Amino acid sequence: MDLLEYQGKQLFARHGLRVSSGEAVDSVDDAVAVAERVGYPVVVKAQVLIGGRGKAGGVKLAANADEAREHATNILGMDIKGHTVRTLWIEHASDIASEYYASVLLDRSAKAPLVMFSTEGGVDIEEVAEKTPEKLIRHHVDALAGLTREEALTIARDGGVDADVVEGVADALVALYEVWLQEDATLAEINPLIVTPEREVRALDAKVSLDGNALYRHEENSGLSDPENEDPIERRAKENGVQYVALDGDIGIMGNGAGLVMSTLDVVSLAGGAPANFLDAGGGSDAAKVEQAIGLILSNPRVKAVLINIFGGITRCDEVANGLIGAFHALSPSVPFVVRLDGTNDVAGRELLEQAGLAGVHTAGTMNEAAEKVVALAGGAG
Ligand code: GDP
Ligand code: MN
Repeated sequence: MDLLEYQGKQLFARHGLRVSSGEAVDSVDDAVAVAERVGYPVVVKAQVLIGGRGKAGGVKLAANADEAREHATNILGMDIKGHTVRTLWIEHASDIASEYYASVLLDRSAKAPLVMFSTEGGVDIEEVAEKTPEKLIRHHVDALAGLTREEALTIARDGGVDADVVEGVADALVALYEVWLQEDATLAEINPLIVTPEREVRALDAKVSLDGNALYRHEENSGLSDPENEDPIERRAKENGVQYVALDGDIGIMGNGAGLVMSTLDVVSLAGGAPANFLDAGGGSDAAKVEQAIGLILSNPRVKAVLINIFGGITRCDEVANGLIGAFHALSPSVPFVVRLDGTNDVAGRELLEQAGLAGVHTAGTMNEAAEKVVALAGGAG
C-alpha cells in the first residue's frame, strides 16, 4: 500500500523526523487559505503515487497568494504519468543548503534490512547507483539489534555529510528506521533529505509503502489507503474478500490455492502468454463465489481469454464443474475459457462441463495443455 507524500510525512512526524508544516487540500481556495496560514513562500505539491513530480511541473514555489492560486489551479487536475492530481500538499517552503538521500527497505537476498544513504540527493537515485556507486552507502542492519545510533553516525560520516550535521543526519536515519520497522513499512524513503542554511536536517519528500497484510496491527493507518489510487478491480475484489492482484497481460487467471495460481502464472508465461491477474478462488465450489470471481476477471477489458486451473482435493472437481456451469449461464462470457480440472473426481467434472455444451469453454487435463490452449485462444504468443 503506497502512501501519498503528505501521509508519509505524517508518519515521519510521528517518529520525530522533521518535516515542514503544511496541509493537504483539494481545492484552489483551500490551497490559498492554507498558504496564508503557513506563511510564504510555500510549496504547492501534487499528491500522486508516482515520482518525478518536480520534473513534471507538479511541485512549484509560490511567493504570494497570486502565485499560490496560479500554481494550485495549474496543478489540480494535472495528469502526471497517468495519475490525475486530486490533492495538493501546501507546506512552508524550505531554504536548501544540501540535498541528501536516505531509505530503508528489506534486502531479501541478504535477509536483512538495508539502509541506503547518499549525499547526492534530490536526483534519481538509480542513476547515482549506476554512475557513481561509491556515492551510495549501503548498510545492512542486524534485524534483532535494529539500527543503532553508532551505526547511523558511521553511515553519515562514510557518506561524507558536512561534519556539523553528522548528528542530525544520524538522528534522521534512526527515526527513518523506526518508521520502517514500527509502521510495518516495506519502503521508507526520503529524497531529498535536506540540510537548511540553519543546519537543520529535514525530510522534504516522503515515499512510504506499508505492508497491507500488517495493516490490522495499525488501526491508525487503515484510513491511509486511497481508493482513488487503487486499481478499481482490486478494490472491488478486496471488498468481496477475493484475493485478486491486477497484472499487465491479457489472459485472465483463476485457480484454487495461492501456490497453484502462482504456478499457473508461470506456466502461462512459459507458454508465451501474459497473465492479466492473479486470482485465488480458495477452496469451495459455490457457484455464487465462482461467478463473482469470473465477473471480476471479465471486468478487465484487456482480458482476451481465461484459464481456470482447479486442482481437486477436498474440493471435488464435479462440484466445481457445477459451480462453473452455473456461473457461465449467469454471465454468458464473450471470451473463450479453458478449464483444467485435475484431482478428485476430475473425469466426472470434465464430463459435466462437456455435456453442458457451453460455447467457448474448452477443457484440459493438464496444466501445460491448458496454458498452451489459452495462449492460442488469446491470439498466440506475444
Ligand atoms: P518529486 O519530484 O516527486 O521527487 O518531488 P519532491 O518533493 O522531491 O520535490 C522535487 C524538488 O522540488 C526537490 O528535489 C526540491 O529540489 C524542490 N523542492 C521541494 N520542496 C522545496 C522547498 O521547500 N524549497 C525549495 N527550495 N525547493 C523545494
Ligand atoms: Mn523527491
